[in-house]
Amino acid sequence: MSQRDIVEAAFARHPTLPREAVIKADLLRGGVSFDQGALVRVPGEDGTPAREHQPKSYFIFSFDMVRQQQLDETQRWHAPEEIALSGGPYGLRRTIVSTRLNPASPYRVAPRDGALWLYADDQPLAEVSLRDLPPYYRAQLPDGRPVAEIAPTIEWGYLLYLTIFRVCQYYGAKEECQFCDINNNYRQQIEQKRPYTGVKPIADILAALEIINASGGESQAYTLTGGSITSTLRGKNEVEFYSEYVEAIETRFPGRWISKVVTQAWPREDVKRLKAAGARIYHPNYEIWDPELFPKVSPGKHRYIGRDEWIRRIVDAAEVFGPANVIPNFVAGVEMARPYGYTEVEDAIRSTAEGLDYFMARGITPRFTTWCPEPMTVLGDANPEGAPLEYHLRLLETYRDTLRRHRLAPPPGYGAPGPGHAVFSVSPFMDVLEPEEVPAT
Ligand code: SF4
Repeated sequence: MSQRDIVEAAFARHPTLPREAVIKADLLRGGVSFDQGALVRVPGEDGTPAREHQPKSYFIFSFDMVRQQQLDETQRWHAPEEIALSGGPYGLRRTIVSTRLNPASPYRVAPRDGALWLYADDQPLAEVSLRDLPPYYRAQLPDGRPVAEIAPTIEWGYLLYLTIFRVCQYYGAKEECQFCDINNNYRQQIEQKRPYTGVKPIADILAALEIINASGGESQAYTLTGGSITSTLRGKNEVEFYSEYVEAIETRFPGRWISKVVTQAWPREDVKRLKAAGARIYHPNYEIWDPELFPKVSPGKHRYIGRDEWIRRIVDAAEVFGPANVIPNFVAGVEMARPYGYTEVEDAIRSTAEGLDYFMARGITPRFTTWCPEPMTVLGDANPEGAPLEYHLRLLETYRDTLRRHRLAPPPGYGAPGPGHAVFSVSPFMDVLEPEEVPAT
C-alpha cells in the first residue's frame, strides 16, 4: 500500500475529520524530510535577493526523530520552523504543521515547477509554503546573541516561545518524563554550537521583547516555560523563578500579549501568586491520564508530587484562574508506547477520554501535543514509529465530541480554530473544531 493509499483509506474511515487534520496528524507522528533544493533559495534573475525563510529554532525539545548528527547540514541548519500546506489533489485549506525531521519518512518536501510540494513517496499531496524570516530574527542583543534564540516565534507568528530554563531538574532515565528530550536536546544543541542559552536572564527577555514589540510583529501571545525546578535555580524555587519573569514582562508590557505559563502543578497559594504576577493562562501539564501509566511515564512527577495530588491541584487552579484559563496538556500517543502502554487503540482512547471527561465536566479544557518519538528518550528509542495514525484520528474525534458534549469553547490562547484558520502547529486539535465554535482569543 502506498502512503497515499494509507492516507486515502484514513479519509474514508474518518469522514467527519477534515482531510487537512488527517495529513497533519500523520506528518506530526512520522516526520518529514526536505530535499536540498527545497531549502536553498536562489536570488531572482532580475537581481532581487533570495527570500529567507524562518528556520527551526529548537524552541524547547528537538521535536526531531533522529539526532542532529544524522541530519545533513542543510536540514540541520535550514529546516523551516513550520510548513503551510494548501491546494494539491485534495484542495487543502491552509494547514500549519510544525517541522519534525525524519529522513526515513515517506513524506518529503521538494521543488516542483518553481514551487515547493509535499510528496507522499512520489505522489504530490499539497503545495508547501514557508514563512518569511520575521524582520526581528536578524536583530541581536548588545552581546551579539540573536534575539530569535531568546524569543523565537511559532504558530505562524502567533506565539512567542520563551523557554527561560532549557534543562529540567528531573534528571536521567529514572526521573525524566520518559518521552521528553529537553535535557538531551540541550546537550545536542550545545554540541552543535547552536546559540542556546541555558538560563535566559530577565534583562535579555525584556530586551528581546522590546525589539519584537518595536518591530510591530503580529505575535499575540507568549508562552513562558522551561524545565521543572525541584530544588532551586539561582537561589529561587520554581514558583519564585517563573513568577518573577511574568511580573517583569507584565510590568514592562502590561497586557501586550496573552500571557501563558507552563510549569508543574502548584499548590493553590502559589497559583495565586502566579496570577497576581500577571499570568492569564496556566498550563500544569499532566502528560498522561492513566493512573497505572502515570508513574511509569512521568516518574519524577510521580515521586515529587504524585498523580492524585497533581490532578487536585489542576482543579484547585481552576478556582483561581477560572476553569477556561487552566489548560493542562497531555502527550497524545504515549499511552500506547511499549513496553507498558496499551496495545489496542480503543483501550488507549477509552482511558484518555476518561481524563478529558473528568476535566471538561469541571470546565477545564485540556489540549494535547502529538507525541514525537525522539531518539535518546526511553519511549522514543523503544517506539521509533510512535503511536498508530488510527489512534491519533480517533483521539481527534473523541476530543471534538467531548468538547461539544460539555458545550465548551476551544481553549483560549491558541488563535482561531477550524480548518484553514488554525495555527497551532504541534497537534491538529484546533484544526478539527468548527470555526463557529470560536471564542474570543
Ligand atoms: S517535567 Fe517532564 S516533560 Fe517537563 S521538562 Fe521535565 S522531564 Fe520534560
